[in-house]
Amino acid sequence: MIFQPQIAPYITEIIAGLQEAGYEAYLVGGAVRDFLLQRQPKDYDISTSATPEEVKKVFKKNRVMIIGRRFRLVHFYHGQEIIEISTFRKKPEAISISERPARVQDAPENMIFRDNEFGTVQEDAERRDFTVNALFYDPVNDKLCDFTGKGVDDIENGIVRAIGDPKVRFEEDPVRILRALKLVGQYGFTMEAETEKALRETLELITLASDSRMTLEMEKILKNPYGEKILEVFHQYGFLKYFLPELDSHWENPDMTFIRELLTKRNERIRTREYRESISLALALVAYPSAARWIASTKKKTIQTKAFRYEMEDLVSSFFLPRHPTRRAIGAAVRTLLLQADFSSNDPKVQEDLKQHPGYAHARELAFIRNQLRPYREDFAEVFPPSHKEYRKHKKFRKRKKAE
Ligand code: ATP
Ligand code: MG
Repeated sequence: MIFQPQIAPYITEIIAGLQEAGYEAYLVGGAVRDFLLQRQPKDYDISTSATPEEVKKVFKKNRVMIIGRRFRLVHFYHGQEIIEISTFRKKPEAISISERPARVQDAPENMIFRDNEFGTVQEDAERRDFTVNALFYDPVNDKLCDFTGKGVDDIENGIVRAIGDPKVRFEEDPVRILRALKLVGQYGFTMEAETEKALRETLELITLASDSRMTLEMEKILKNPYGEKILEVFHQYGFLKYFLPELDSHWENPDMTFIRELLTKRNERIRTREYRESISLALALVAYPSAARWIASTKKKTIQTKAFRYEMEDLVSSFFLPRHPTRRAIGAAVRTLLLQADFSSNDPKVQEDLKQHPGYAHARELAFIRNQLRPYREDFAEVFPPSHKEYRKHKKFRKRKKAE
């Protein structure tokens, strides 16, 4: 396999800095995988033998910060970008049932709750999830290390293979189920037979994963330029009902078909760099068919009220239950949706104001995408998503409103 990664020079410099201070340091994880697949990595992860405190001492104070509780690591700041530098870890020891958080008392005995024991580079490779994610690359000496012995071959053949006993690995951390399916969706990989069998057997354990990690994953998938493929795979494997149940239960609904087409178009345009990644635009696309219908049947005066905007926020949120995108992203999505009508206005003043509007870029992108697709039909019988009244009833939402 030809391996000529175009690694940003500052990444090589960080790694060289750690090596010069006497530590081992490598580029790891998704970036190495993406380089091998001839894709541009989204971000860079570095792994080192230096502890977080030692890493801090190597670099200027204002460039690095130690973060995390469950998994302590260093954030290195390069302009807008954050590079994660983590210390080699080994697989943690299991903890007794009585030490566990109450929420997961009944979880499998293999489940991991701590992840902070430092180890060697070999141990660090073995505690990673899949062979394709466990490659280490040293750009200073141009050395690619495949400690599991299968990483390079699996990338070449497009195979998702758990490291170690797949069932144990999914039980240890059910988020790995989601991560395996993401690899299938994002790269068109196939799952190795044992890994697939274990995944199907443990699928339901995902309900034990913490809300915050799942929300983070949702944000990553909404941003991902292969997001529509990931959701498709989630649905095929019966996983989507645990992740985004509203989308799953309406998967065959004509609205949902249209939403998937919208997402596909949006992602094509991100992949060809015609438009940028944006969570709020993805949220707006998902809500678009329902919002458009609702807006079309509402008086202009009502649409301009604050109350209507709140209703729209509820509508957008309802698609993602029980996950909660940030209020900021939802607000931006609603703005994008409400601006759509202005694109069909013949009034030059409206058109001019639209161009000056801070939400213009996303709104224009949504208008462009929907115009590229088939004309939208408005006569669907099934009500999707749940009405905003139903959404209001949702416990979590009430709790959140109360907290605000
Ligand atoms: P992406 O391109 O989406 O960032 P990634 O594989 O780099 O993909 P990260 O979440 O950035 O994903 O994780 C970096 C690396 O850390 C992974 O490649 C993997 O080796 C390891 N890793 C992440 N999450 C887990 C997990 N739950 N269990 C074991 N290893 C993990
Ligand atoms: Mg990564």
